[in-house]
Amino acid sequence: MSNDTARYVVVPCQFCDTRNKVNMERVAHRPKCRNEECGKPILLDRPFPLRDDTFADVIANADVPVLVDFYADWCGPCKAMAPVLDAIANELAGRVLVAKVNTDATPIISQKHQIRSIPTLMVFRDGQQVAQQMGALPRAQLLQLLQQAGVGG
Ligand SMILES: [Zn+2]
Repeated sequence: MSNDTARYVVVPCQFCDTRNKVNMERVAHRPKCRNEECGKPILLDRPFPLRDDTFADVIANADVPVLVDFYADWCGPCKAMAPVLDAIANELAGRVLVAKVNTDATPIISQKHQIRSIPTLMVFRDGQQVAQQMGALPRAQLLQLLQQAGVGG
């Protein structure tokens, strides 16, 4: 509804759960939670944890593509992939929201998205799933998956 071309995401503060609308151009500047009593940084240059009660809201309100890593703590391939996701989240900060979902703690979302093996990676745009990959991916293929979803070029 405005002329401004900035792209935003709406995320819950990881400390106090306040919903924050964050300008993705500001991600590198460590935006702070708008709850004055909290004021903690909102870190979107690393995988952002989503829960059953926050997933749909974040996906629906993101102006940028969201890459979601469905993982579990006991999953070896997930652990092997974590540094790749950390690096991508940092490199593409502001252009992509990288999120992670602990499937052991999110029965509703994991069932809704029919997660049968982990890691499973999904890309969402405008609230819709546009790409999916089961199994760990090396960096180059992960970038390809994002390109399929229209990220980068
Ligand atoms: Zn907060």
